[in-house]
Order: sequence, then structure tokens, then C-alpha cells
Amino acid sequence: MQFIDLKTQQKRVRQDIEDRIKKVLDHGQYILGPEGRELEENLSNFVGTKYGVGVASGTDALIMALMAYDVGPGDAIITTPFTFVATAEVIKLVGATPVFVDIEPDTFNIDTKKLEDTIKTVIEEKKLNLKGIIPVDLFGQAADYDIINKLANDNDLFVLQDACQSFGGEYKNKKTCSNAEIAATSFFPAKPLGCYGDGGMIFTNSDNVYEKLLSIRVHGQGIDKYENVRVGINGRMDTIQSTILLSKMSIFEDEIEKRQEVAKRYTEKLEGIVSVPHIKVDNLSAWAQYSVIHKEREKIIKHLQEQKLPVAVYYPIPLHLQKAFADLDYKSGDFPVSEKTAAEIFSLPMHPYLSETDQDIIVEAITKAVK
Ligand SMILES: *Cc1c(COP(=O)(O)O)cnc(C)c1O
Repeated sequence: MQFIDLKTQQKRVRQDIEDRIKKVLDHGQYILGPEGRELEENLSNFVGTKYGVGVASGTDALIMALMAYDVGPGDAIITTPFTFVATAEVIKLVGATPVFVDIEPDTFNIDTKKLEDTIKTVIEEKKLNLKGIIPVDLFGQAADYDIINKLANDNDLFVLQDACQSFGGEYKNKKTCSNAEIAATSFFPAKPLGCYGDGGMIFTNSDNVYEKLLSIRVHGQGIDKYENVRVGINGRMDTIQSTILLSKMSIFEDEIEKRQEVAKRYTEKLEGIVSVPHIKVDNLSAWAQYSVIHKEREKIIKHLQEQKLPVAVYYPIPLHLQKAFADLDYKSGDFPVSEKTAAEIFSLPMHPYLSETDQDIIVEAITKAVK
């Protein structure tokens, strides 16, 4: 049994992928080729934004978004400590300071009550210039953007949606990546929509931000890459990776539906045995992960591993307790919900092709372990 089965998926699109790659080999535009543009149009239409900018990874998507908003030293950006390291890493990489806000215990997304308090505190302290918020759509479920956008609006902040796990999901009947003024997603192979290497995309409706992103993506280019009007990066997505995503988009909506069925079945069978994921009304999760909570996590994991069943822990150490962020001077106890979640959470095999038989084996192993 696999944690994420990419082989079964590949069988559905293999011929089309080979045909598309062959076309790229024929035309030879490996960087910023026509398929890159086609993908940007396809995906921005899918999520419902004016623009999509294909980039080299989800991390580059986040970094470039921060660069487009001129975030730098002296600025503060709010995010949560219970996320993949990239979310906070990019804030430091542009020279700004991450400010953490704890998560909700049931969705693992930013706690908007605590967000409101922290915004107030940082502004009153006047030590840092609070500039933006990066809510994370953890495990595939969108954060609460109506509240977050309102708080941002009231305090003159921008919102960068970290949708690296939620592509294909929905917030109040609108696709993720369209819920804040700018959004970043990732096409790392294990994400809900993955390519066969690294890739990512930024989504925005702003003409101005779009123009800036195109320049940042190619070393801050002006008229061409030999006229440099700002400092940028090499943030481009390969043409071949774009073709793989174009191909996978033909089955993506079906896969998102299949993920709902897998998640629903897990929840029916595991409710009462472990604490199951909570999806808010009007949300559709992309189910990047199916994560459950139990006090005796280590015992359950050991039991699953003994039976060679795949299981993973996202994330064992919250970011405020990581060495990489020690200079922020946070300590154990600062974000109790993140800390408790990190100690008790674990994720089960989740992909559109998970069979009922395999699912039953997982459920039975967990049930036995907690008895
Ligand atoms: C995967 C991920 C990223 C980074 O994406 P890469 O493509 O691996 O660079 C950022 N944020 C979150 C929440 C992620 O899950």
C-alpha cells in the first residue's frame, strides 16, 4: 500500500503526457514555451482569477508574491506556526519578520480571534511595520477568508493565500487561490495537483502585481532580461512540467470527487475512534492530507508500521520551536494549540485511487491499536 499512489493516476494519462512531451521536444522552447502560457490560462480560468503566473515551486510562488508587495527588513508578516516550513521561511528570506498566530484546534487553520488580537498588538508596539498576512489552507481546507480579508482591509494589510495544499478545494463555493488578493500554490508531485518535478503558480486579479511578477520571475527584467529594473530571481516553470499539468487537468475534477468519497468513508469508519477532520460548512477540501488526532499517536503509528502500513506526521515540530526560527524568541507554551496538535496528529494514506479494501485495513489497524 502506498501513502500517495501516483502510478495508477499515471496510467490514465500516460499516453497524453508522452504525446505532449514529444511536442516540446520538437519545438524546443523548454523555458517559457507556449504550453506554459496555456497552463496559466487554463488554471486561472479554473480558479477564477484574471492572471496565473507559472513559477518554479510553491516556495518561489510565496517569495515572489512577497517581493511583488515590496516586503523587506522592518516589515512583519503574520502566519501560523503549524504549517510547512516554507510559509515562514520565505518571510525571513526577504528580510522581514514572521509573527505567529495560533491555529484552530479543529481545522488547523489560523484562529481569526487570535489574529485580530495579534494585529492590534503588533500595530500598537510600533516595533515592526505590519504589512501582510499569510493564511495557510492546511491539508486542503481553506482558511476563513471573509474574516481574514475584513481584518486585513481594516488595517491596511495584504493577504497572501498559501494554497500550496488546497488547489482544487473551495471556500464558500469559490475555488481556492481566488479567496485573497494574491495566492500561491505548489505542484510538487505529492500535492493534489502535482507535476513530475517542482512547479508552482501565483494567482492575482491585479494588473500591476501581474506585471511586477513577470519581471521578478526573470531577474527583475525590464524590456528584456538584460535591462534590470529591480532585483528578481529565476522563478520560471519548465515547459515540460506545464505539459504534465495540462494533461493531469483532464482528470483533476474527477480526482477531487474521488478524494471526497475516500475522506467521507474514512470519517464514517473512524469517527469515535480517533478525532476526525472537521470541514466547515461551505468548504470543500482538496484533501491533500487526511489527518487525525489521538493522544496515543506513537502507539498507533508503531502498530501501523509493524504491519508495513504507510503513515506520516505533518508536522511534528511547530515552527516557533524550530532552531531556524530561534531568533524570534518564542518559547514552548506560546502556541498551545499548535503544540498539542503537533504532538497528537498523524496522516493516513490519501489519494483518489485508494481502494476500499486498503482503507478497511488501515481502519482496522487503527481500531485495534487504540483498544
Ligand atoms: C508544499 C508547500 C509549500 C512549498 O511548496 P514547494 O513546491 O514544495 O516549494 C509551501 N507551503 C505549504 C503549506 C506547502 O504545503
